[in-house]
Amino acid sequence: MDLNIALLKGDGIGPEIIDSAVEVLERVGSLYGHKFTFTPYLIGGIAIDETGEPLPQATVDGCLASDSVLLGAVGGPKWDDLPGDKRPEKALLGIRYALGLYTNLRPAKLFPALKGASPLREDIVGACFDIMIVRELTGGIYFGDRGYRQGKYGEEAFDTEAYSVKEIERIGKAAFDIARKRGKRVTSIDKANVLETSRLWRKTMQALAEQYPDVEYRDMLVDNAAMQLVRDPKQFDVIVTSNMFGDILSDEASQITGSIGMLASASLGDTTRGMYEPIHGSAPDIAGQDKANPIATVLSAAMMLRYSFGLSAEADSIERAVDSVLTSGARTADILGSSALPPVGCRAMTEQIVSAL
Ligand code: NAD
Repeated sequence: MDLNIALLKGDGIGPEIIDSAVEVLERVGSLYGHKFTFTPYLIGGIAIDETGEPLPQATVDGCLASDSVLLGAVGGPKWDDLPGDKRPEKALLGIRYALGLYTNLRPAKLFPALKGASPLREDIVGACFDIMIVRELTGGIYFGDRGYRQGKYGEEAFDTEAYSVKEIERIGKAAFDIARKRGKRVTSIDKANVLETSRLWRKTMQALAEQYPDVEYRDMLVDNAAMQLVRDPKQFDVIVTSNMFGDILSDEASQITGSIGMLASASLGDTTRGMYEPIHGSAPDIAGQDKANPIATVLSAAMMLRYSFGLSAEADSIERAVDSVLTSGARTADILGSSALPPVGCRAMTEQIVSAL
């Protein structure tokens, strides 16, 4: 296949980890006979420095013209004092919106070689866990009406949550379809004992579940889900939930895997074009020092091959290469744990993954 990939390197460790993913993709391309063409565009702080905008129109146009988008990370102390709509992070909401990406996939997988890195006891982790969190990304309280007004106690602020049946159905379908390719179990998470939006969410999900008789379905309240994730994470296969609950639960799930430097994510919409990025930020404290763990970005590239291009064998090969490098004992500093060996840098980790391919 001939595929055009837009690269949004961004700030901090963004350029280092994107370069790693590009090397891995190039190797996969030469092994499996695909031609990947990479085109870089500006986003975040570097875009502010060079154009005055965190998300220049040329970046949006370039991404829309590509087959898929690979993003590093944005932000850093240099831009922290800018007003909200001029901050680098603003570009993230903007690009997701421009590309119509309403489904966020966040796998929280504990690699067997990294069992010791989980803060959970070994008897809880068991034979490792592999959860896929499907989060609604463009609706709910983050996008609802908001503002200030005079209330009972004087000035007050408010945010509102709204969800339509259409929005719930489309994210639900994404979750059930993914579950069919995995463990065939969906847990839908809401707060239906309190929120009206959650009651509609639950009713719509339950109706949808009837169209997927081969997938086991259950509802769970969000407060219970927060407990169950640390009590018995193995019970989950696919979790589907709203924007805000997904934001919080996916960070909790990532924490129980032990390292933020290992976790990939994908944002998808109605087309095969998606945006793929590590869940971590720009890590300004280690930028430019060859200390970043590139694995989250490399695994994001694997998700791109699987979900945007349908190249499952190629995606499997990247995941296997990462697994074998970790099993061989190679560790960047963030996942060193109690290893007696010295940590490897971003470059060396990338080289090992490329040769394991
Ligand atoms: P962060 O994820 O950048 O860093 C948190 C900690 O984890 C740091 O100690 C960092 O060194 C470490 N870390 C993160 N990724 C790592 C990796 N790949 N390898 C090794 N260590 C890694 O979060 P933060 O410090 O809260 O935020 C830094 C900047 O990133 C801020 O400007 C924030 O707004 C931005 N941010 C951007 C995104 C994004 O682009 N999607 C997401 C979160 C935060």
